[in-house]
Amino acid sequence: MSRYAEDQIPCCISCAEQPEQEAYIKKCDRCGITYCVHFASNTDVRMCGNCLDDFKVIETIEVKTTERVDDSGAVISRRRQIARNLKLTGTDWLFCAAKISTLSDEQMDASIEYHRAIKNTLMEEREARRVEYFRKLHNVKTNLSAIDKHLRDKKIDQGIQDGKQKKVNEKIAEKKVDKGLNDIASLLSKVSGTKLDSAQVAALLANLKGAK
Ligand SMILES: [Zn+2]
Ligand SMILES: [Zn+2]
Repeated sequence: MSRYAEDQIPCCISCAEQPEQEAYIKKCDRCGITYCVHFASNTDVRMCGNCLDDFKVIETIEVKTTERVDDSGAVISRRRQIARNLKLTGTDWLFCAAKISTLSDEQMDASIEYHRAIKNTLMEEREARRVEYFRKLHNVKTNLSAIDKHLRDKKIDQGIQDGKQKKVNEKIAEKKVDKGLNDIASLLSKVSGTKLDSAQVAALLANLKGAK
């Protein structure tokens, strides 16, 4: 809001202290008060915020539907047209319109160029802001997909680790089985080579159990 209170000085201290003061403060074309960019009218910087404030853009959308009917009265085609209607209102706009009618051709050309330059600068600024907005949006999306990828990689890593651990466990189990089989084999060879009775075999088995 560029509008300011009646008892307020429409100029910031920092703006007034700028070395190139002309760029930051000026006199209002209408009331003559000295104001800075922060108190300038949003619509026309040649005036302070209190002098050009009553201005509005009213936007309306008009929809027109055209229908074609055949002899029996049945609708055979329908066409919808949508138009955006901008209307400028407010006493400041009326004042401006009245002023325009008093301009000479030269003054009008100069004013058109002045406003064209303002318009181009406004459009460039709007475009730059849009580009910046979409760049930020794109970065957010990229960051999200990077996080997603990181989480997925982590899951895969965990899976590989789990798989490795499983294999190690299987190897240990295999070795245990192998040792058991070897023990049985050596026991059998001892038993078959000698004439041992069942009590002696039981003693050997108990021995083996104790050694384990
Ligand atoms: Zn200021
Ligand atoms: Zn003013």
